[in-house]
Amino acid sequence: MNKLKNLVIAIAEIGRCSGLKPPAHEIKAFNHFFTDGVLDRSCLDDRDGGCTRRELLLRMLLLNAVLDQGPDIEGVREMMVDVVNNLYEREVRMFHRPLDFFKEINISVDQIWNTHEKVKSNKSAKWAEDNQSTASKYNLYMDNSKQTLNYAIFRWGVPLALPYLLGKNHENRQSTSLVDYLETYSSAEKMSNGLKDDEKFGLGKAIGDKACHLFAKWMVSTFRLTRKQDESSWGEFSYEVPFDSNAGRVLWRTGYLSNLANKDEFIKKDVVQQNKGKGGKHYIRVTNMRGMPVSKNVPSELFDIYKDICVNHLKTHKREPKKIEIQRFQHALLKQNGDEKLTVSAFDDGLIEIGRNYCLNHENPRCTECPINQHCDGKNSDRSLITDYRT
Ligand code: SF4
Repeated sequence: MNKLKNLVIAIAEIGRCSGLKPPAHEIKAFNHFFTDGVLDRSCLDDRDGGCTRRELLLRMLLLNAVLDQGPDIEGVREMMVDVVNNLYEREVRMFHRPLDFFKEINISVDQIWNTHEKVKSNKSAKWAEDNQSTASKYNLYMDNSKQTLNYAIFRWGVPLALPYLLGKNHENRQSTSLVDYLETYSSAEKMSNGLKDDEKFGLGKAIGDKACHLFAKWMVSTFRLTRKQDESSWGEFSYEVPFDSNAGRVLWRTGYLSNLANKDEFIKKDVVQQNKGKGGKHYIRVTNMRGMPVSKNVPSELFDIYKDICVNHLKTHKREPKKIEIQRFQHALLKQNGDEKLTVSAFDDGLIEIGRNYCLNHENPRCTECPINQHCDGKNSDRSLITDYRT
């Protein structure tokens, strides 16, 4: 277990220094919320138009979380900032008045289409080179969809419609409709589940599990926008890591996952899909890992920490769980370590940083420069972890 702990801590150390945050300060309508790029936290509950600053930032982050998938996170963020700034210049004040986005749907769709084309022409060649792919495959619309109307309504429209609907239901609380709703949940993890699955207000297929957890991370840790004072259920261990394919690749290649369960168990759960990846390699689908138990031995002290996390932080269990779920295991390692700066959020930021810059999705990742290479099985002892798998 020490080996895994050292790896997790090394990843969190990288994440602690990582600077890739959602570009809230680049949204011109929010410029005055920030001083030198730092959020002015003392004014979060000041009104800006019909909403509080806190509410507006959460509306923007919810949209960003939904969009933040696909091949190029920076490209997505650049596109979103450009679209939002141009729409605001044309008085489509989509976070202050979500209905504007739909009322002016011709302007909204044109703006998304034009900006996507611009970002694609600027970034696709470099992206193709880094990922050993072709520039024509660069597409930020998600699910390989190419239809702008579908993307605009499904991926932009649904997260914008939520605060609008909530405001309609509570006319007297329109200025804080989203944050009031989110904070009805007993923990950030429960909130992130409800964001997708609630039968009335859930975003359903418009948002993935990863995006829900990403939003929880930004709300609780990155921007600290929750008003909840409870450090357990709305604190640093109160939500799961938003695992995506970058994270899955790093965790597989380093040997982290194979130290928690056997390869056959990953195959059985379709986490490893044999010969289904690019070039006939094994495909890793980390999202299928949800709920999968750790089958290797775990020291009882670590298990006790894990139980406390499930019952008192995530609040997903009323009684102590009997098994450890793989996707939550790093919580226990980080909590046992006890450095309050090495959080779940830092761990996720580290995975993103390494996945984007070093552990690229092809046979020759940048292992020599990779800051966690001394902890990596793929680099040091079993190169097949790199050569035989793709995400
Ligand atoms: S050492 Fe290589 S394989 Fe291991 S995490 Fe870093 S880039 Fe990926």
